[in-house]
Amino acid sequence: MSNTFQDAKARLADVFSRIEASDDVDERLAHPKIMLEVNIPLRMDDGRLRVLRGYRVQYNDIRGPTKGGVRFHPQVSADEVTSLAFWMTIKCAVAGLPYGGAKGGVAVDAKSLSRLELERLSRGYIRAIADIIGPTRDIPAPDMYTNATIMGWMADEYYTIVRKNVPGVITGKPVHLGGSLGREAATGQGALFVLERWVERAGLDPNKMRIAVQGFGNAGAHFACLAHQAGYHIVAISDSRGAVYSDAGLDPELLMAQKRTHREISQMLYCDSSVCESNIYKVITNQELLELDVDVLALAALENQVTEENVERIQASSLLEVANGPVDSHSDTVLQQRGITVLPDVLVNSGGVTVSYFEWLQNRSGLYWEEAEVTRRLKKTMEREADHIFEAAEDEGVSLRTAAYLHGVKRIVGAIREQGTEEYFAQDPG
Ligand code: GLU
Repeated sequence: MSNTFQDAKARLADVFSRIEASDDVDERLAHPKIMLEVNIPLRMDDGRLRVLRGYRVQYNDIRGPTKGGVRFHPQVSADEVTSLAFWMTIKCAVAGLPYGGAKGGVAVDAKSLSRLELERLSRGYIRAIADIIGPTRDIPAPDMYTNATIMGWMADEYYTIVRKNVPGVITGKPVHLGGSLGREAATGQGALFVLERWVERAGLDPNKMRIAVQGFGNAGAHFACLAHQAGYHIVAISDSRGAVYSDAGLDPELLMAQKRTHREISQMLYCDSSVCESNIYKVITNQELLELDVDVLALAALENQVTEENVERIQASSLLEVANGPVDSHSDTVLQQRGITVLPDVLVNSGGVTVSYFEWLQNRSGLYWEEAEVTRRLKKTMEREADHIFEAAEDEGVSLRTAAYLHGVKRIVGAIREQGTEEYFAQDPG
């Protein structure tokens, strides 16, 4: 298997050199447990039949049923889904959730499909993987280019197959179909809780901080809006087609409303509105956004955005990984040497899966929580794990990523140890 997965695993070597763990752990975490590759027939609106490639990878389930989203994106491959499933394993352990890690995807340009084609594809995907998922086995959720509506279709298809209503099989569902209040904003909200904690520790003032946000999907858009409300200046925002920059700061809510009408940020007539009169903004490229001199560069798009190619030109003081794997392992080292702080994905974006866990709990208990309760518990979880990681990084003199991995891997090591390792089985029972 190629690149991203090898690169993802490379970070474990450093972690294992710092803890005492049986070779069993190394061996267990080097391979995904199940990799399912499927070909999904999709009837198009014009009658044509297309067959699309899909995947579900369950990486490791020692800490509980596997958990992770499903993405619809042309770049989806076995390598990408396996890397994402690996990160989910670490992430669920970092957040202290009783889950293993998984991920799924279909290689397709979701934007080119009609609504009905999208529904047929979502249902077809579930038919193809139904045998290996379930509320106590593997629980899908939204990821790039999938959303609550799609989760609703997927859950409905699963209920039809098993002839039971088991909402705990999928999280991120619409609220009226068993979804949790607060799930939609959870990834962005969780990222902000981590940033706030970091800013507080560093003694910085949010009102004086400038943030650039790469990516304006669910996570990026909610993060930008919430950070703006908290007083940060959002000076640049990009989507897959382009970016806008304003020295005086942008209003992400307005951009969100305009994106709904114009569909892409760089084409947006930001000047349509009154904000333009007081705001001078310009259209820039995605690459230019990454290289802006800001306090925080929030990466909320795809993996591998900061690489050998551009790492030397990064000027931000800190990077907030709202997406999964936006910085490759080589650049991670370079950034550390250059004194640029990276707040790592396995902590920063764990708010999404944490509220997915809350949704699963609500589905299984039948007792539904108020939004304030969801937010309160999310804040508590994010701050607890963030504080632990910040302190460990300081105490042990390691990067925040290494501290986060150590934190998660130790929990996985504990589970593997308690099941018995080579050392245990080689002992003479006496
Ligand atoms: N796709 C999200 C992630 O990468 C959420 C996963 C989930 O809720 O299971 O963390």
